[in-house]
Amino acid sequence: MLIVMHHHATSEQMDQVIAAVKAMGLTAEPIPGSLRTAIGVLGNQGYVDDSTIRTLPGVRETIHVSKPYKIASRDFHPEATIVDISGVKFGDNEKPVIIAGPCSIETEEQMLAAAKEVKAGGGQMLRGGAFKPRTGPHSFQGLGIEGLKYLQQAGKEYDLPVVTEVMRIEQLDDICQHADMLQIGARNMQNFDLLKEVGKIKHPVLLKRGMSATIEEFLAAAEYILAEGNRDVVLCERGIRTFEKATRNTLDLSVVPLIREMSHLPIVVDPSHATGKRMLVPVMTKAALVAGAHGVMMEVHPNPAKALCDGAQSLSGADFGALMIELNSLMEFLGFQG
Ligand code: PEP
Ligand code: MN
Repeated sequence: MLIVMHHHATSEQMDQVIAAVKAMGLTAEPIPGSLRTAIGVLGNQGYVDDSTIRTLPGVRETIHVSKPYKIASRDFHPEATIVDISGVKFGDNEKPVIIAGPCSIETEEQMLAAAKEVKAGGGQMLRGGAFKPRTGPHSFQGLGIEGLKYLQQAGKEYDLPVVTEVMRIEQLDDICQHADMLQIGARNMQNFDLLKEVGKIKHPVLLKRGMSATIEEFLAAAEYILAEGNRDVVLCERGIRTFEKATRNTLDLSVVPLIREMSHLPIVVDPSHATGKRMLVPVMTKAALVAGAHGVMMEVHPNPAKALCDGAQSLSGADFGALMIELNSLMEFLGFQG
């Protein structure tokens, strides 16, 4: 439930409402805003009886929220969330962030070479998977902790914050020690125990959309993290499963403006997993930025033909450099400087 206060409500009246909410065994979260002052009510598992609250001085109205997400919604949180990772900022009015790097961390040399190319092109964050959720058990499963070390080393060497996927709760400690941002992959978007655990820690999270998830399910997954206290969540559209086979997935770009309206959380696009085809990555990256994405995550490999994972959708360093020149002009056109 959302309690909307009168413009002239005093801080004593706010305190009284907060106390009344707490007395009902619920949590009250003040929502400051330039247009209105409201108090979000959290912790209820069903309809909240608002008869007492509605009569308190300073209360204008109560709005019952039936969506499965509240903290993730713009109603509860009108101001945009800016997620800051060592100075790299995702969110409204920030220059879109380019995250790039290989699908999997393969060797120390490969990771250093990839980081060099990402930095040279002007990428701001480095990606690479150490724990890989592969469709079949006979495919390369990732280097595990050894890979995390190579990723961290490459990030340090080229001054790029790093993001990597966590698949299981037990991996969290090691990943937090080596990476600046945790990725939750499409296959784990509804691993609710993992989401809750990630919600209890301070590390920023890149939450990818499940391949068959609706927007409501996507935001409800983010809500699991937010509800535990971690408010640094960046959403990632990575394509959804449709009948179409010509592309790996179907890139649902309309979620970008929709989520920007429905939620205050930043949203980025992964054109690599969305299309599965290197040829489509540059154009869909540009389309994502035009649609209003707060960033893009793409796969870049020093030698895509030899990649152990997702070579067909990976750009070479040269491809990435050429694309970045175009993206810089596009970002300038879109009003982002520097
Ligand atoms: C990835 O980004 O490495 C990945 C496995 O993507 P997704 O979870 O979107 O399939
Ligand atoms: Mn991949």
